[in-house]
Amino acid sequence: MSIRRIIPPGGAEIVGDGSTIVAIATAMGRGALATVRASGPGVRTLMRVLLEPPPTIVRRATRCVVRDVSGAAIDEVVVTLYAAPHSFTGEDLLELSTHGGLMAPTAVLAAAIRAGARQAEPGEFTRRAVLNGKLDLLQAEAIGDLIDARSSAAHRLALRQLDGGLTRRVSLLRDRILELEALLAYDIDFPEEDDGPMPRAHIADTADTLFDALGMLLATTEQGTLVHHGALVVLAGAPNVGKSSLFNALLGEARAIVTDVPGTTRDAIEAVLDLPGWPLRLVDTAGLRESADEVERLGIEASSRYLGQAALVLACGDSARSVADVAGMGAARTTAPVVTVVTKGDLVAERHETAADITVSAHTGQGLRALLALVEQRLRQRHGEPTLDAPGLTSARHQVAVAAAVEELQAFRTTWGEDLVPASVAAIHVRAAADALGELIGVVRVDDVLEAVFQRFCVGK
Ligand code: GDP
Repeated sequence: MSIRRIIPPGGAEIVGDGSTIVAIATAMGRGALATVRASGPGVRTLMRVLLEPPPTIVRRATRCVVRDVSGAAIDEVVVTLYAAPHSFTGEDLLELSTHGGLMAPTAVLAAAIRAGARQAEPGEFTRRAVLNGKLDLLQAEAIGDLIDARSSAAHRLALRQLDGGLTRRVSLLRDRILELEALLAYDIDFPEEDDGPMPRAHIADTADTLFDALGMLLATTEQGTLVHHGALVVLAGAPNVGKSSLFNALLGEARAIVTDVPGTTRDAIEAVLDLPGWPLRLVDTAGLRESADEVERLGIEASSRYLGQAALVLACGDSARSVADVAGMGAARTTAPVVTVVTKGDLVAERHETAADITVSAHTGQGLRALLALVEQRLRQRHGEPTLDAPGLTSARHQVAVAAAVEELQAFRTTWGEDLVPASVAAIHVRAAADALGELIGVVRVDDVLEAVFQRFCVGK
């Protein structure tokens, strides 16, 4: 028989800022069920005011009627109470499984607000989880990544981050930096001794080893970012060569999630193709053609911007000549590999125009699978196989923090090696390196960092 915790009459201790937050945690729209969740010290009061009967056993799904303050029934729900500190947020947490659609969850939310809760800010549940030590910052980010994942690889990467692998790797490095700081403290205590109690070379070796380990961590950014966002594959070519048709035909060859990219005069359109190797972020932009026309000119700029960030460019043309033109123009704007593609293969095939890497037809499907295989092959040549199981860096925030640690450690090595300044001054760099990693996992300056991390979350997370 399992052990049940009976809810104590007094309720939970007050944690956080003392407010009780509530939000609809599921996406709005037509569906069978929705989840409203509330967290904070007032959850038990909410239960007494809103629910009939209020649940009496924690972590047990209980069927209740929700009533508003006037006593009118709003919905029939299934409620689960998680008592502090054993909940996602570390506070008393209530999950109400309401009927779906717009009205039921909105009415339950409104009733909870009238009963004293306040609408949660974006990411506030996860933020409380971090503040109460239930998650570290990297794990909290991983929850956002998991929800935003558009490919199996990105999903797997986020799960790895959520299970704490990256935190362990970063924490271990930070501990070693703090050990180096401790070694330096000996030197600071005995500055007059000939060689100090700790040989200078030992400290230098320790710093070198750490520097290499940090460098290896930093080097994971490229792979992590490619998996996280998908390798950016840009379709480039003059208008009417068949880029949009090719874009759409390629979507038919793989599982794809399509999104419009606003902000360009001719909006670009993006799709993430969930392929077994590297996930691809395929972008169809306005035509790449030199032109005085303003719209066209902006279109070209949009293309150039994408070309500059591309992992691979598909230079498209409906003749060998136009492919060569666009490949030349594309190559001038990117350092990524360029694959030359003759489009409308059903029209050109008989003319034996085979100077390009591949000939495809959006209309007949000719060459589409081969094109995806070629793209995969080129990406592997440049970036190797995606490694999804070793914890690595996946965002600009991670990269900036680790790069700062690398820089500080390098500054320490230089000053230490040249014996330019007293150990106490050189040690400042070591402390700064430890702080940079501390910020990454959220053990120093938590407030600023939390602000940056949670601003991209949605309400209810
Ligand atoms: P974009 O401006 O480069 O995006 O070109 P579109 O995809 O809009 O195509 C321009 C024209 O070429 C349209 O009339 C398409 O139907 C036609 N087209 C595109 N792909 C093919 C193809 O594979 N075969 C043939 N025969 N026509 C194509």
